[in-house]
Amino acid sequence: MRATVNLLPGGRHRVLEGHPWVYRSEIGAIDGSYSQGDIVEVRDSRGKFICVGYLNPASVITVRALTWEDRDIDAQFFRDAVMRAVQYRQTLFSVSGPFGKEGGGYRLVHSEGDFLPGLIVDCFAGYVSFQTLTYGIDRWKETLIDAIRQVVEPLGIYERNDAPVRKVEGLGLRSAFCGETFDPLVEMDEGDARIIVDIQKGQKTGYFLDQTDNRLALGRVARGRRVLDAFSYSGGFGIAALRGGAESVQFMDLSQGALDLARLSVERNGFSGLASYTAANVFDALREFDKSGVKFGAVALDPPAFARSRKSVPTALAGYKEINLRAMKIVAPGGFLCTSSCSHHVSPTEFDSMLEDAALDAKVRLRLVERRTQRRDHPVLVGVPETEYLKFRMFQVT
Ligand code: SAH
Repeated sequence: MRATVNLLPGGRHRVLEGHPWVYRSEIGAIDGSYSQGDIVEVRDSRGKFICVGYLNPASVITVRALTWEDRDIDAQFFRDAVMRAVQYRQTLFSVSGPFGKEGGGYRLVHSEGDFLPGLIVDCFAGYVSFQTLTYGIDRWKETLIDAIRQVVEPLGIYERNDAPVRKVEGLGLRSAFCGETFDPLVEMDEGDARIIVDIQKGQKTGYFLDQTDNRLALGRVARGRRVLDAFSYSGGFGIAALRGGAESVQFMDLSQGALDLARLSVERNGFSGLASYTAANVFDALREFDKSGVKFGAVALDPPAFARSRKSVPTALAGYKEINLRAMKIVAPGGFLCTSSCSHHVSPTEFDSMLEDAALDAKVRLRLVERRTQRRDHPVLVGVPETEYLKFRMFQVT
């Protein structure tokens, strides 16, 4: 028998509107016995059934919904859900079979966006890198691995459960091959570039697939330009610019490991002579460029999430404004600024008005070229604003 989580009367419960989260503060009594990670049902204050999900009393988001149908949650449920997520990508990207022979990179399961909260499955040229980030989903790890094997038919599977958010859930950290080992440096296609992904030591699952289309947008305007790829990680934006005919790219990141990876991909694409690598703090470097009058034909700015909570949004916006204002000043007239924020706490409206302020202060006029979000394999659920986390804008600076 699964326990019942009863919502408190009154107040707004977004779960009643199809949102997958129930916060601790929304919960009254829990009937029945339960332990961390158990499947529970949620009922409103009058006892009406709402949804079935998993429980973690240690987390502020205490229940995450799996289904709004009153049904059992078992291995079959998870297999079907993984199957639906993978079929969705087959449709979106016109892939006819399983992903094990596909040379590109795809996010096959995107947590809440695929009704599997806590589960991330990325596939890079047939190799899967996955994360089970919540207590409730981690319980089903073996079932999920079986489902991935069946549905994706991958060349290999790697578990990247070394994300610090797991600690908040009460889970340990772990990074390991599942089954047979393989060379964790995987080479995949992105547009017409080859990208080296380090599944074992790279950030998150190895590569940020959410920016793929945005990188290609930069590639389309890069011809003949001197480009700065700031917060480059393994160099996705700069490599797209080089493929698009950039005159040169300066890759910049705090992490030397990231720059080493970027260099591998640059060399693989035959652009060694056009690239330089700078291990530096972007905040300082932009200030220096501005002071010394250095100009670029295009700048990509893709910082890590500055806002980790709603409370830290004002500080985060100040940080975003600082780098954007400087970047606007070092783009030569007629050049392009590609700027991103991956923090879901910062709304698109807040991001846009910060950019407007930055342009005023920088005394430049911006022409909007592209207004984009994460690629479509990172689905956005209507009514669940948290799922639309990536903001990307390309401006021409005039
Ligand atoms: N643009 C990348 C992803 C960037 S992730 C891509 O397309 O894949 C953010 C990167 O910013 C990380 O690699 C991190 O090492 C780097 N970083 C964080 N703070 C930084 C700072 N102050 N200066 C330079 N790099 C920073």
